[in-house]
Amino acid sequence: MDTPEVSFIIPAYNESEVFPELVDRMNTLIDRIDKKSEVILIDDGSNDNTAFLMEELALKDPRYQCLFLSRNFGHQKALSAGLDFARGEYIMLLDADLQDPPEVYFNFIEKVEEGYDVVYGVRQNRKEGWIKRGFYNAFYTLLNKISNYPIPRDSGDFGMITRKVVEAINRNREESRFLRGLRSWVGFRQVGVTYERMERAAGVPKYTVKKLLKLALDGIFNFTTIPIKLLTISGSICIFSSLVYFVITVIRKYLYHDVPTGFTAILFTVILFGGFQLLSLGIIGEYIQRIFFQVKQRPLYFIRKKIVNGEEIL
Ligand code: UDP
Ligand code: MG
Repeated sequence: MDTPEVSFIIPAYNESEVFPELVDRMNTLIDRIDKKSEVILIDDGSNDNTAFLMEELALKDPRYQCLFLSRNFGHQKALSAGLDFARGEYIMLLDADLQDPPEVYFNFIEKVEEGYDVVYGVRQNRKEGWIKRGFYNAFYTLLNKISNYPIPRDSGDFGMITRKVVEAINRNREESRFLRGLRSWVGFRQVGVTYERMERAAGVPKYTVKKLLKLALDGIFNFTTIPIKLLTISGSICIFSSLVYFVITVIRKYLYHDVPTGFTAILFTVILFGGFQLLSLGIIGEYIQRIFFQVKQRPLYFIRKKIVNGEEIL
């Protein structure tokens, strides 16, 4: 079987509700594409019917390749498994819930054919509630302010990258993965394409608040050390101001003899500096935790089973 030119990477975690619609849309799309394509479905340790549906599909339709992860490793690692496996020259990443319309393929491929290596989707209007939207906005503003590399606003993992970008990204085996950050970090010619982000076709979001928070922290702590520098700066400011305060107190003690009024001030400073110290330890801890997981050099994921070209590989 000759190698495909286009690979679609779609991770799915408990997506049996949207699965039939996803397959419909993908089938219609692949039929319209003039390039040979494969769809790589990654089952991220689902505990509903998803794995079964994937298996049934891939065994009868060799355009669908399936990787079944041994447990739930999370969206970013599921995508990484897909990136490791993908054989195409043009690789498109999308969600299983059809929030990112697969048909944007045509806009992506147009840009790639113009010579871009990374084409990322930029969400025109988010359909999420205002709280989630507020958090996203705050996060991307913060990230861009402090990151050493620009990470495009309102863009997620949805996009198309060429073979050489995939290879560049795959060489980063870092454990706490923030792929959209890595994608920006590797460089090459990049461009954004706006699209309208839909509502989930069916089912409920699989990203819990906890998983989202982890992703956000990975984005920050993997791409900047500014939080550590802020610690040094704020620590210095604290020491300086407490020295000033000390001098003022000494002067007042000897000139005006009115010092014992300071009980609240003492309490306040103790709490403030205690807080600063805990915060500092926490920030350092975030880096140490990442170093800890990185030095272990653990594999990013395990594959329980694959179905490639309609054949099961155990
Ligand atoms: N997903 C995954 N593993 C997880 C959580 C999510 O593979 O642990 C997949 C999910 O099936 C979907 C994509 O990641 O295809 C995006 O998830 P979701 O729609 O819940 O995120 P949101 O759109 O709310 O950011
Ligand atoms: Mg979604």
